[in-house]
Amino acid sequence: MTTTDVTVQCPCGYKIEDESKYNILFLKKEQREIDILCPNASCFLGELGFIKFIIVDDQPVLELARFYSPFVTWNATQLGEEDTRKRLVNHLKLLITKKIRWSMIIEETHRITDIQEDEH
Ligand SMILES: [Zn+2]
Repeated sequence: MTTTDVTVQCPCGYKIEDESKYNILFLKKEQREIDILCPNASCFLGELGFIKFIIVDDQPVLELARFYSPFVTWNATQLGEEDTRKRLVNHLKLLITKKIRWSMIIEETHRITDIQEDEH
């Protein structure tokens, strides 16, 4: 294992080499919450973490981003807590800066806001 290795593993056994492997799901639009999912469609865990944001002047502002404890603990038992923390913080950072298409997220958020306004 080299120092540049950033691979983590889901408890289902799926190896996640980098941020591009995660599946991103934006269903909880009203809560402004993006789910981070395991790439394995039949994973028993499914959701590995989440990213919460608010929109200020059409720009996303990060509120909270974290991985759930079963996923974190699983990796900590194999990589150690310090290494796990570093890798997962890095994955979160890259998910936020590279993987997530914020323009689409903002567009979808606007759409649901518009619909709600029409109903009233
Ligand atoms: Zn999994």
